[in-house]
Amino acid sequence: MAIERTLSIIKPDATKRNLTGKINAKFEEAGLRIVAQKRIHLTKAQVGTFYAVHKERPFYDELCEFMASEPVVVQVLEGESAITRNREVMGATNPSDAAEGTIRAEFAESVGENSVHGSDAPDTAAEEIAYFFAGLELVG
Ligand code: ADP
Ligand code: MG
Repeated sequence: MAIERTLSIIKPDATKRNLTGKINAKFEEAGLRIVAQKRIHLTKAQVGTFYAVHKERPFYDELCEFMASEPVVVQVLEGESAITRNREVMGATNPSDAAEGTIRAEFAESVGENSVHGSDAPDTAAEEIAYFFAGLELVG
């Protein structure tokens, strides 16, 4: 086990419903520390670059439109096995499959509008953190 950092995004469906604080409480209760955080309104092109790995998927355009529709909160979470821990706290992509007590089970509206993003591996976490934050913005 090691201390890791992961990128989290509170998505437009959640910022719109004023759920930032409730979602942050879930992270903190799980032992994840928010070591950087900012609210931004992404352009569709910025989302497209971030989600480039999904560009062949049928939902790509819808995903980019959604993520650019309202502000998001991008954040870096730090803690023991933070990448896996955060995925556990988030719950499954489709809220109907998400375990009880997870963010997506409690707050997500659909498989697309599912309240949070979390990096899935150490290499993607490092890339995604660097996409949004300069080193000096990470205050552990
Ligand atoms: P996760 O966010 O759990 O890592 P993926 O990386 O597979 O899930 O997908 C990225 C995002 O694309 C999802 O969080 C969701 O917003 C959207 N998405 C995934 N699958 C679908 C789908 N079948 N229909 C619409 N949107 C989807
Ligand atoms: Mg993913």
